[in-house]
Amino acid sequence: MSGRRLLALAQRLRALNVGGAAAGPAAALARASSSAAAAGPATPKSRAAAAAFAPLLPHRRLAWTDSKGYTHFGERTPLAVVGFGGGGPGGGGGRGGAGSPHSRIMAGAAALGAGSLGLYWWRCRETVPFTGRRHSVMFVSPEMEASMGRQTFAEIRREAASRNALLPDSHPAARLVARVGGRVAAAAETAGEGPGAGDAGHMRGLAWEYAVVDDPQVVNAMVAPGGKVVVYTGLLRLVGGNADELAAVLAHEASHVLCRHHAERLGRANFAALANVLARWLLGVPVPGAVVALALVLPHSRANEREADAVGVRLAARACFDPAANVRMLKRLAAVEARGQSGGGAGGLALLRTHPLTAERVAAVEALLPAALAEYEARCGGLRAALGDRAWGYAAAAPGPLG
Ligand SMILES: [Zn+2]
Repeated sequence: MSGRRLLALAQRLRALNVGGAAAGPAAALARASSSAAAAGPATPKSRAAAAAFAPLLPHRRLAWTDSKGYTHFGERTPLAVVGFGGGGPGGGGGRGGAGSPHSRIMAGAAALGAGSLGLYWWRCRETVPFTGRRHSVMFVSPEMEASMGRQTFAEIRREAASRNALLPDSHPAARLVARVGGRVAAAAETAGEGPGAGDAGHMRGLAWEYAVVDDPQVVNAMVAPGGKVVVYTGLLRLVGGNADELAAVLAHEASHVLCRHHAERLGRANFAALANVLARWLLGVPVPGAVVALALVLPHSRANEREADAVGVRLAARACFDPAANVRMLKRLAAVEARGQSGGGAGGLALLRTHPLTAERVAAVEALLPAALAEYEARCGGLRAALGDRAWGYAAAAPGPLG
């Protein structure tokens, strides 16, 4: 509130004669406002009166006195410190006044920080293969992703092994997953070239690993950063021995790595933490966590799934698996969801919960099929026909115990 408005308010109070008690503070306020408006030093009496009147002022409006004895009206916020106003008239002699050396330094630091952040954002931009989406992965390096993935993968394996549910790598189901997954991963590594080329440098040298956890009630698969894939036997039962449909799932998971979705989310979380620090510093208030989640994380998790679907169809085709199986797999999962076969257990149908199945999602994949089928036929059609499904897609490799 400006000194002039305070003066007018005090004069109105006096004119209305709002109680005898108010006349004293109001008059003192008028004098204090006058002194502030004129940038003159406040007297001890006016300072006391201003302090007494402060609780009567509108919400969070305060009167405060700077180091040189000038009284200011209005909230003393860090905004004033960086010179965005709010210090009230007469400010400028104090440490937080606009135009002071301190405020200029702080404003310069803020501008430098914002400029550096913008430059960093620009340098971190990448193009997602096949979709062409431009994104900026900040604060997370491929090495950090790989390290996080190794830790997560080791924890999942340790937990499964502790309840004797981790299938050995020599198990037919584990070998099937590793073989199909290996072909998909090899295709993902080539996403930097050919049709739909994008940034795929982070795929070089990844140590892809696969684990199969024997939990028939869990229709799920997941991937940790760096190419660590976990498949549950509930999902393997669903696809039977169909390598094309298994490839659809593994291509979806590999797409999360190719699109750097983990890093994107982690980068957003780090950005949100930084923004929160800046908001506290500049505005004096933190940004609520729920707002950050709604604005930065939740919308993107759904978008990430749609993108993994779209990229997965192309990866499956490039790996010479029938891309039409992606649609069949989605419909199969949707049917399970419709039957409500949750199967119980903490992880039951986790794939469905984290990867919402909608008619729109199936339709979106169907719409992408022509381009995927074109690449599939161009690359693999003749060869597959020559070799036959049995030799080509490991169609007969359905592991007995899981059938
Ligand atoms: Zn997914």
